[in-house]
Amino acid sequence: MIGIENVTKRYKHVTAVNDVNLTIRQREIFGIIGYSGAGKSTLLRCLNLLERPTEGKILIDGKDLTALSDRDVRKERQKIGMIFQHFHLISSKTVFDNIAFSLKAAGKTKEEIKKRVPELLEMVGLSDRGDHYPAQLSGGQKQRVGIARALANEPKVLLCDEATSALDPTTTKSILQLLKTINETLGITIILITHEMEVVRDICHRVAVMENGKVVELADVYDIFANPKTALSKQFVQTVHSLALPERLLAARKGTIVQIIFQGDSAEEAVISETLRQFDVSANILHGQISYIQDRPLGTLIIEMTGNHAEVQQAIDYITKRTNLLEVLAGVA
Ligand code: ADP
Repeated sequence: MIGIENVTKRYKHVTAVNDVNLTIRQREIFGIIGYSGAGKSTLLRCLNLLERPTEGKILIDGKDLTALSDRDVRKERQKIGMIFQHFHLISSKTVFDNIAFSLKAAGKTKEEIKKRVPELLEMVGLSDRGDHYPAQLSGGQKQRVGIARALANEPKVLLCDEATSALDPTTTKSILQLLKTINETLGITIILITHEMEVVRDICHRVAVMENGKVVELADVYDIFANPKTALSKQFVQTVHSLALPERLLAARKGTIVQIIFQGDSAEEAVISETLRQFDVSANILHGQISYIQDRPLGTLIIEMTGNHAEVQQAIDYITKRTNLLEVLAGVA
């Protein structure tokens, strides 16, 4: 539904986005993650042509936005809502008028505005706050106003620029839940940029990992947690799914330390106890956790196996067959 084709954005001395190609599906929540300076924000702003790509095309429902005049772009932009880290509300206007502002800009009549704003306020859980000013609201409430304003003209796409980065963890969860509900009930495609892997884990369906203006990895969110391919993705995964073993434990090991990833159903199977029954090895659990990503279990376990070399190797082969991934962290290779 949204095509990013060979998009490059160059500033004088910097190539902020470097030949990016992505297809974003209708109704998906698509995350773009990367460290600061990776080019996420520039890429997001290229999508609604707040930044004109230096090269490449932005296709929305087959229409190439880069081929349109500025006037036509402004019209198309109404179909693309956007929310920001720092909300960008007008401090001198009430919540009602902040939302009404984008309806007015789209040429809606007073009657239409009077009818639409309360609907939007209800959608974001702020029905009783229409006459408040931004300064009277919490960060989470301000972002809810931002969301209501972004949805005012019934966009097909919502762009979220670090929308929860200025919020505390509990408020972040509630805003993410609201975005998820909007995606599910209104069928709006959401593209969000973030540097937080929790955000990706909690609501995204797919994710692109960016570094130096390029997409270095593109995957379903479950798969990136189960099997991150690049060092950068591994770093991001470890920020929420970390099982780093203290050096002390690794140094003091007597046996072979393996990390096992259990995907889907195998997360709930008793693979370890079956291994111990079948092979003459003993196992000591050093670390473990099960996370649920898009309601699918993803388990990680680090165990130390001791026993005769051949038996340990056979046990490793058996676990590798039964689970999806096993990595030897120390000991028998
Ligand atoms: P991110 O959102 O991942 O932090 P940005 O897209 O903001 O990354 O920035 C990518 C690179 O482009 C950075 O090196 C940044 O300094 C540069 N950049 C962004 N906007 C401009 C601009 N308007 N003029 C010059 N350089 C810019």
